[in-house]
Amino acid sequence: MKVITVNEPKFVAEFQCAGSQCIDHCCQGWNIVFDKKSVNKYLKSPVIEIKNIAADSMVLLKKSHVHWARVKFNENRVCSFMDEDKLCKVHALMGPAALSPTCASYPRSSQRFKSEENKTLTLSCPEATRALLTADDAMQMISHVTTAKVADKARIVNQHDKLLNLMSMHLVNASQAQTQQGLYAIASLLLFAEKHPQQVEDIEAYFNGLMHSIESGEISQHVANLECDNQLQWSLLLRLQSYLGSRKSTRSLGRINWYVARLLQVQTSGLENNNVAASMERLAQAWSSTAQPWLNERPHVMRNYIMYRLYNDQLPDARKRSAMSWLYLLTAEWFLIKSLIAAAIEIDGEISEKIIIDIIYSFHAVTKHNAITTEFFFEQIEKVKVNDDLSLLYLLA
Ligand code: SF4
Repeated sequence: MKVITVNEPKFVAEFQCAGSQCIDHCCQGWNIVFDKKSVNKYLKSPVIEIKNIAADSMVLLKKSHVHWARVKFNENRVCSFMDEDKLCKVHALMGPAALSPTCASYPRSSQRFKSEENKTLTLSCPEATRALLTADDAMQMISHVTTAKVADKARIVNQHDKLLNLMSMHLVNASQAQTQQGLYAIASLLLFAEKHPQQVEDIEAYFNGLMHSIESGEISQHVANLECDNQLQWSLLLRLQSYLGSRKSTRSLGRINWYVARLLQVQTSGLENNNVAASMERLAQAWSSTAQPWLNERPHVMRNYIMYRLYNDQLPDARKRSAMSWLYLLTAEWFLIKSLIAAAIEIDGEISEKIIIDIIYSFHAVTKHNAITTEFFFEQIEKVKVNDDLSLLYLLA
């Protein structure tokens, strides 16, 4: 046993499943995989109903002890163990201890290091997204020290990356509803850190300067002076949303594609006159006239989302790609979410918490549960970016 620090944002610590009130149940539309121990427990259960469902609905895969079987959907694409009130029969008839590890833990997960554990929630759960986006203090960090078993292969926290991660979160927090400013400041910080990797004191001084520039309005001025590249924005959006449109049926795909259809409608409207700029201006106008003023009154919405992404994705994670590549991905995904919101405003004339929660949770349900999507997004970014990762600034204009 070792002494470790456990960190979690407030909305993670306080999370409660919405159960039968959930707007998009996680037991619907997803292939749910069961481990060997749980499968055998259900097949041999003294509860006849559970035993019968397991015998009729478990499809044995035997890929590994963790990946032992999947459960068939019923005619509504719902897990066969779910009852008419959208409650789990295993939970109801055998108790919470009988749930498989997948069912017991979702939407919770954690990243374990030698000296700390960071707890999180996946935003594919609409209730987790609602909790994150609707409370001002959702990303307030709670930490405690405990003892736990630590695997030999657990990673050591990279203190340099951790420092940059904390600084990035502070920059976003200071930028409040002005997400562009936060992302611009992070890009500046990462570029500086890339050039001065060992000089922690210089990085700290640069970070303090950035905080001051946010406060004084200097960063806001830099963002206002950024050149806009409509062609890059248009082409990146089209590539990312075509991918969503081409995905095979999965949970929440119908919901995200409802918003993608609106974005496509706005994007293709300019094509008749070969005027890509006109489509992008429609989106920009909807954003600046309706979305941004609405967000200014609720600065926690986008601030919490970007802070969550920095915390959850542990950015900058320079293990496989450069820190700037990850920032490009985050910026591109934020730009897509922003454009989906703007298109919904442009077509339906309204913005609400519900629309933003819908877009963000369904985007995460469809894109964040397989590594293929992230790789695909990186490929598309490579195809549209001009020169280097700094062209992410074109998405902030
Ligand atoms: S998606 Fe989230 S709120 Fe909905 S049933 Fe699953 S865990 Fe509960």
